Amino acid sequence: MSDPQSEALFREAEALLPGGVNSPVRAFRAVGGHPVFVEKALGARIFGADGREYIDYIGSWGPAILGHAEPHVVKAVQDAASLGLSFGAPTEREVRFAKAVIERYPSMEMLRCVSSGTEATMSALRVARGYTKRSVIVKFDGAYHGHADALLVKAGSGAATFGNPDSAGVPEGMVATTATLPYNDVPALKALFSARGRDIAAVIVEPVAGNMGCVPPAPGFLAGIIELCDANGALAIFDEVMTGSRLSRSGAQGLYGLRPHMTCLGKVVGGGMPLAAYGGSRQVMQCVAPLGAVYQAGTLSGNPLAVTAGLVTLERLDAPGTYERLEELGARLEAGMASALRETATPGCVQRVGSMLTLFFHPGPVTDFRAAAAADTARFSRFHAGLLAGGVYWPPSQFEAAFLSLAHTEADVDRTITVVRTALERSRG
Ligand SMILES: *Cc1c(COP(=O)(O)O)cnc(C)c1O
Repeated sequence: MSDPQSEALFREAEALLPGGVNSPVRAFRAVGGHPVFVEKALGARIFGADGREYIDYIGSWGPAILGHAEPHVVKAVQDAASLGLSFGAPTEREVRFAKAVIERYPSMEMLRCVSSGTEATMSALRVARGYTKRSVIVKFDGAYHGHADALLVKAGSGAATFGNPDSAGVPEGMVATTATLPYNDVPALKALFSARGRDIAAVIVEPVAGNMGCVPPAPGFLAGIIELCDANGALAIFDEVMTGSRLSRSGAQGLYGLRPHMTCLGKVVGGGMPLAAYGGSRQVMQCVAPLGAVYQAGTLSGNPLAVTAGLVTLERLDAPGTYERLEELGARLEAGMASALRETATPGCVQRVGSMLTLFFHPGPVTDFRAAAAADTARFSRFHAGLLAGGVYWPPSQFEAAFLSLAHTEADVDRTITVVRTALERSRG
């Protein structure tokens, strides 16, 4: 595909920013080629630097659930901007935002606003450790919870492994108390609790995994985590930064009818602005400074423009039928992609929960990172290039979820399926 403008900008950017980007996956390294430099985004479309138009399934990696530049959100942010960009002081708007979130997530009696999902998970862990006075954190292999030191660990296969940093610059000591287990493996978690139960502060989980591609929780997995935490005095933290207010009005916990001890939110609830939050019961959240001994702060936390965008987004999502509509579009895309796989005799599967979806080049089902990692990533790269050439902007990695928005139409989905079929044919090795 030729996009000389983006190519030129990328060359310029590479001299100034590591990899030419401000967040690694944007560089398209997993699929080769160069990223599209975005000029603007409207509804379900993004427009590249060369003016080319794409149907967007990245949605800013999750936030753009209403579609890009949704007029009510834009207007509210413009009005808010005229009153000042940041005060570093409490505002009525952040109280309204907190109320809106707490009303939607009954498991959260109090929350603290922060500026990114990374900050939310990092802070939630600190609170869990402060509250329980224990140090061990359990996470699942293939789950991403932001780039805090303690969370940059992946598992060896099978049993729990402690202390293998995933990134240079993370001393082993920082992850010595992080245990990793296979996703969807309750017996492994039970065994770990039997061995180390008194040391475990928290289990953090993506209630629907999105960061190894879309992997739904097996029946009983999430409830099992909460039960084991309850029985052992640990906290179950649902990292709903991706799933929050995307899978239902109250995220995955609403969808599955569960009540985690703590919740992290970001992406959708920030309405496209740098805003995230963590919260839980009053008893747990009373540990946070200035009420309690766990320190956590932020100059831009609860920023007035950000909470305005978040609040309007949550309100727009309350219009009748929004989540049914996302489900309908998701089902249409899933069915179309699954038949494209069959018609082209491609070994693959489509996994979806609501408006989150991944086409794996793996016969499926993909239930954990071990399975996801066995997918044919070389074929995914060729597939991705085909999608881009056909005007479909798809996550540039096998291990990312694609997102639909309320701005997508049946016609967008149908056109996408046509492009998918061609891209699948052309992706044969
Ligand atoms: C995106 C994401 C994060 C990190 O959020 P940032 O805003 O990028 O720091 C954490 N957890 C999950 C599940 C995510 O999808």
